[in-house]
Amino acid sequence: MSRSCCSAHRCSSISCPGCAWRYSRHIAREILAYEPRHLFAMTIERSAPGPGDFGQWRKAIHNAASYQRRRYRRWRGVGIWGWHTGADIRGLVALDPIGATEFTLAFRRHGEVHLRLIRDEDVRVEVYRAVQSIPATWADHRSGRYQSLKIAIVPMTTAKSSTPTIPAQVIEPLPMILF
Ligand SMILES: [Zn+2]
Repeated sequence: MSRSCCSAHRCSSISCPGCAWRYSRHIAREILAYEPRHLFAMTIERSAPGPGDFGQWRKAIHNAASYQRRRYRRWRGVGIWGWHTGADIRGLVALDPIGATEFTLAFRRHGEVHLRLIRDEDVRVEVYRAVQSIPATWADHRSGRYQSLKIAIVPMTTAKSSTPTIPAQVIEPLPMILF
């Protein structure tokens, strides 16, 4: 982590493991507040790699999700949280009540979708993995700014609680970056 990162002053840099771990706690709480069921780790690989604009890609995915929500009520419970890591988008999806196949088909025009079922207690680690996949070379000019690299399509249900308990064992696998 950065030399300037300490408890009194967080650097908030994308390349700082400590700050990424703190950020992942914040996001995990946000996701778990929706009490999601059928959580998956998600990767969307761009089908045609190139210097494409993430902003346009993100907009296309937003539009595809909005379209599904207008057509099918069940899509309103779907949530997508992802980060642009260069060639792909990595993150998590909450699919209840739709299936993985339905999700994959809905986004097939926007890339190759890979899903892996995870448990609630894995959410923070999966968020951490996703944001740590953002190239470190992007960190300098994007310090503290995940927003330009993030896609978030939240479920159209009310978040139940702003502070669900993150199980203690989630913290254990990465003790070296806790302080
Ligand atoms: Zn830091």
